This record gives sequence, structure tokens and C-alpha cells, in this order.
Amino acid sequence: MTQEGAEARTRRGGKARRPGWTLRFADPRQEAAFRRDYFHQSLHQVRVSLLVGGFLYAVFGLLDARIVPDATTVTWIIRYAVVCPLIAAVLALSYTRCFERCVEPAMALVGLVGSWGIVAMIAAAAPPGSYLYYAGLLLAATFVYTFMRLRFVPATFVNLATLVLYESVALDAAATPPAILLNNSFFLVSINVVGMSACYYMEHYARTDFLRRMLIRDQAGRLETALAQVERARREAEEQSRRDALTGLFNRRHFRDILAVELERARRSPSPVSLILMDVDRFKRINDTCGHATGDEVLRRVAQCVGRGLRRPDTACRYGGEEFALLLPGSDGHAARHVAERVRAAVAAVTVGHPGGPAAVTASLGVATMPAGESWDADILVDRADRALYAAKRAGRDRVCVWEGGEAMPA
Ligand code: GH3
Ligand code: MG
Ligand code: MG
Repeated sequence: MTQEGAEARTRRGGKARRPGWTLRFADPRQEAAFRRDYFHQSLHQVRVSLLVGGFLYAVFGLLDARIVPDATTVTWIIRYAVVCPLIAAVLALSYTRCFERCVEPAMALVGLVGSWGIVAMIAAAAPPGSYLYYAGLLLAATFVYTFMRLRFVPATFVNLATLVLYESVALDAAATPPAILLNNSFFLVSINVVGMSACYYMEHYARTDFLRRMLIRDQAGRLETALAQVERARREAEEQSRRDALTGLFNRRHFRDILAVELERARRSPSPVSLILMDVDRFKRINDTCGHATGDEVLRRVAQCVGRGLRRPDTACRYGGEEFALLLPGSDGHAARHVAERVRAAVAAVTVGHPGGPAAVTASLGVATMPAGESWDADILVDRADRALYAAKRAGRDRVCVWEGGEAMPA
């Protein structure tokens, strides 16, 4: 029964195929994963069962002197020289790394030696003590089937081997009355039937639980991956919504958001804010003579000039068709003029080849600066930069003009 199979069945709502009597998964890797999981889930209970088993085995030794005084030496050797040291050794082993590999044979050995030890005590003791010790065999069978976290197959092996040993010992002992032998055998077989069923279903449920947890883990992993993809797509879409598709610069909407934020920041901690608006000169002519595709190429190259050499707080955007804006928080008029002149010169150096010869590109720029300590509205700053830009156009293009106290002046 593979995980995919279980998943498909869960989806179809169909009935799971009945597991085989060994309960093993068909896929060896899945079986190995289950064993690992079962080990880690069981380790605590395994140790508790060893402690409880060792304690009971040791404490019942106190009764030996009263119930089977004739066989105390043998029973105490079995208890204190064989079974209890073995339990202590396996308990110590459970704190080592190799326990995961040998947990099953080690625990089966404890079950087998513990049960056989009781059979040996029954054989060594004289009636009626030996009849009473038979109850210990029932306790051991219950213990092995339900408490030691042994899987169905090894637990069944241990108990059936003990049943066979007990029957051969009891049949051999001529003194065992037939009624007692019949009664004991009946109860021992019954407890094996009940114990096997309980052990089988406990392992079956442990495996079903394992499959469900794997399925949930798998689906949670897929969900996490899907959520990460959605989040990545959302961030990409958000980033794209801020960008201009042709030039890759920020678009006007995002620019207006940044402008509002920077003006608010400058209001709170007084500092200048400069804005440069730039318009490509006679761009319509470039389009008309060189074609729209060349016009687009010019816009891309001009955008590179605008975006190049910016400081971290600066923001460049494509403001409109062939208009660009540069926001320079913390830059005063002098610094902004310097930046505008640098951009103008860079644009003037752009040439785009086309069949009619290289097309010259120039741009006009307008600069407006909100001095530190003042509080301007975004529209006012844009309007003043715009006036400076149109002053540059009127003054002959390919130049920078600055808005200064009510009028725009050449830089
Ligand atoms: P001025 O110097 O006065 O600014 O003249 P201009 O020709 O640049 O100004 P105008 O506003 O008359 O023309 C701008 C042109 O820009 C018109 C429009 O077709 C073109 N344009 C706007 N967006 C794009 C674009 O994305 N790609 C291209 N190739 N052209 C564009
Ligand atoms: Mg224009
Ligand atoms: Mg123009």
C-alpha cells in the first residue's frame, strides 16, 4: 500500500485494500520509513515497559520464598541473574544509537527470555506453587502483546513459542492434573488469540496513522509551495504594476505615491526636496522620420540616462509619453541643477541609427526645489517644475531651467 495509493483512495473515498497478515507495506522504502517512525513514536513506551517489566520481575521474587520455597534458588537465579540483567542491558542499549537498528530483536529477546523464565520457574516449582505461577505467564503474554510496542509478527512469535514451550513442559510434568492442564491451556490459547488480535489492530492503526500523517505532510508541503508561488506571483504583479513596461522605470502612479511620502518625510524632518521634469525635444519628429520602433528605442535609451547614477533615495519615472521625472529627496537646488545638467548632457549624447542617418536626441528639463523647512503640496512642486520645463522649451530646448521664487530661470 503506497502513499500515492492511499491518497488516491482517500480522494475516491474508496475502501482501502485489506493489509496482509504481516501488515508490511509493499514499498520497501515506505516500510523502512514506517519502521523509523514507529521506533521514534514508541521509544518512550519501550523504555517504560522495560522499567515496569524489570520492576515486576524483581518484586515478584519476594513471593518466591513463600509460594515456592523449594525452588527459590532457581527462581532467583532466573530473576536476578538472567532476566533483570537482560532488561537492564536492553534499557541501557535503548540510549545508544544502534538501538533503532536492533530494537525488534532486542525487545523480542526480552519478551522471550522473560516468558521462558516463567515457564522455567513453573517447571522448577512443585505444585501448588507451580499452578499459581501460571498466572505470571498470562501476565507476560499480555505484556508482550500490548505494552512492549513489539509489532504483530515478533510479538506473536514470542508468545506462540512460549505457548509451545509451556505445553511441552506441562505435558511432560506427570504431576499436572488433566483438568488444570486443560484449564491453563484454554486460557493461554485464549489470551493468545485476544492478544494477537489486539496487537494486529494496534499495528494496523499505527500504520494507518503513519500514512495519514505522511499524506498531511505531503499536502502541507504542496500547499506551502503553492502559497510561495502565489506570493511570488503577487509580488511580481505588484512590482509590475509600479513599472513602465517600455523603459522599466517606475510609472507615474507609483511616482506620485513616492512623491507624497517624501514630501511628508521632509515636513517631519526638514530637508529640501527637488523635482526634475524632463521632456524629449521634438520627439514627434523622431517618430515621424525614424518610425515608431526607433522612437521606442530612443525612449529606452533616454530612460537609461535618467536612471543612471542615482543615489539611493532618488526615484526616476516615466511621467508620460516622452516625459520623465526625477525626484531627489534631500537635494537642494544646486545639487538638483547639477543632476539635471548631467542628464541633459547624457541625453544629448544619445544617437539612434536609422536608414536616414543617426537621429540626434535632446531634452529640456525643469527643476523645482522645496527648501528645507517649507511645506509644499505635491501638485505645487510638480507645477513649478513643469513651468521651469516649459521655460526651457521656450528658451530654445536642450537646456535646464530652474523655478526660482515665482519665475523660471535658465540654470
Ligand atoms: P516638444 O519638443 O515640444 O516636446 O515636441 P514633441 O514632438 O516632443 O511633443 P509632442 O507632445 O508634440 O509629441 C510627443 C510625441 O511622443 C507624440 C507621441 O506619439 C509620442 N509618444 C508618446 N508615447 C510614445 C511611445 O511610447 N512611443 C513612441 N514611439 N512615441 C510616443
Ligand atoms: Mg511632451
Ligand atoms: Mg516633447
